[in-house]
Amino acid sequence: MAKANGGAAPFLISGGGIGGLIAAYALARQGYPVRLFEQSPEFREVGAGIQLGPNIFRVLEKVGLKDAILADAHRPPAQEMRDALTGKVIANIPLGAEFSQRFGQPYAVTHRADIHGTFLKACQSSNLVTLENSRRVDGYEDHGDHITVTLDDGERADGRALIACDGMWSKIRERLVGDGAPRVSGHIAYRAVLKRDEVPDDLWRPDVVLWAGPRTHFVHYPLRRAELYNLVAVFHSDHYEEGWNAEGARDVMWQHFKMQVPQVTRMLERIDTWRMWVLCDREPVKTWSEGRVVLLGDAAHPMLQYLAQGACMATEDAVILAEKVAASPDDLPAAFAAYTQERYVRTARTQVMARVYGEFYHARGVTAELRDMAVGGRTTQQAYDGIEWLYGGP
Ligand SMILES: Cc1cc2nc3c(=O)[nH]c(=O)nc-3n(C[C@H](O)[C@H](O)[C@H](O)COP(=O)(O)OP(=O)(O)OC[C@H]3O[C@@H](n4cnc5c(N)ncnc54)[C@H](O)[C@@H]3O)c2cc1C
Repeated sequence: MAKANGGAAPFLISGGGIGGLIAAYALARQGYPVRLFEQSPEFREVGAGIQLGPNIFRVLEKVGLKDAILADAHRPPAQEMRDALTGKVIANIPLGAEFSQRFGQPYAVTHRADIHGTFLKACQSSNLVTLENSRRVDGYEDHGDHITVTLDDGERADGRALIACDGMWSKIRERLVGDGAPRVSGHIAYRAVLKRDEVPDDLWRPDVVLWAGPRTHFVHYPLRRAELYNLVAVFHSDHYEEGWNAEGARDVMWQHFKMQVPQVTRMLERIDTWRMWVLCDREPVKTWSEGRVVLLGDAAHPMLQYLAQGACMATEDAVILAEKVAASPDDLPAAFAAYTQERYVRTARTQVMARVYGEFYHARGVTAELRDMAVGGRTTQQAYDGIEWLYGGP
């Protein structure tokens, strides 16, 4: 598979999250050398779950990583939405054989560390990928025929192009797009992971369950071959703290959920320590590249998590970017423009629809009634038809 260009200038990647690692691997699969810089002292992901729609498996299959991801994942039989005040089932969508037949790929949930670890291992197994920790990309110069990045220790590294996978607060996006800080949604996510035996048997469910409440929702599902249980509680708040890993105050969260059904409150009571995410996104743009610099993943299209698609979209980006590069290796600005052209509408739709889903999950009063009629009144086939635009791609 590798072309004889391993000695040529490498692609430079800023950021070793899910997007950066899969981009490095996808480019190496096409035969290109890659140098990836990650600012943290080690490659790791936070302890939480991640849902994987059939669309990510379609691209993972192309790069030979589908089975490795599924090996540690859990396959939920259904996705269920329930009313957090009454306990009523609003909708139940099967995710088993009928779903896989419709979309040609499965639905799975996994630990972030497992998907990140699989991508890391894939990179480590390639002699075309060099991974460098404790190295922050501070700037770049595009010379037209190559690129130079400046690292925090002052070293300058040359490459054939720079792929910015540096996330929601991307410095490279700031220079390319200049759209300021991300938009704070006013929603906060508290997350925790329990061991299977810490979850009472009558509360344990193999499905992805979402409890929709007024200005809140609570999601739980098993992880890692069902050995762990992932919990995410989201509520409206004007709190703002940049980053992903601060400790969340238990009593603040409790105020928002204490009036909900016992299946919710009993589960929430089991958690001693919550980690907190302040949820942000951005308006969609299509300025993803300039010359030899291109954005990927959250740097290009940060979205709220309500469609569970940020990592799926970053992985789609990576595989498609590598294909465009392989189709036009001697004109990388053209390859990056073609990648942007293919990706920006799909990712914009996901950004916009994620906000709509968030409104629906948190609806109150008549809006909640409307939601229940809209999502509860559908047949399974109608539910599948409604998400075809997303799960049927890329
Ligand atoms: C609560 C929540 C739930 C979610 N659930 C899902 C889900 O179920 N399914 C799904 O698909 N997605 C989900 N997502 C979205 C998903 O987590 C993100 O979209 C995805 O992790 C983005 O990956 P990334 O590699 O683009 O960015 P990041 O993961 O942010 O990685 C960026 C990396 O770049 C590094 N970096 C930053 N600046 C520099 C620099 N200057 N130099 C070097 N390195 C740098 C950072 O240290 C980091 O490692 C969820 C998000 C949240 C908040």
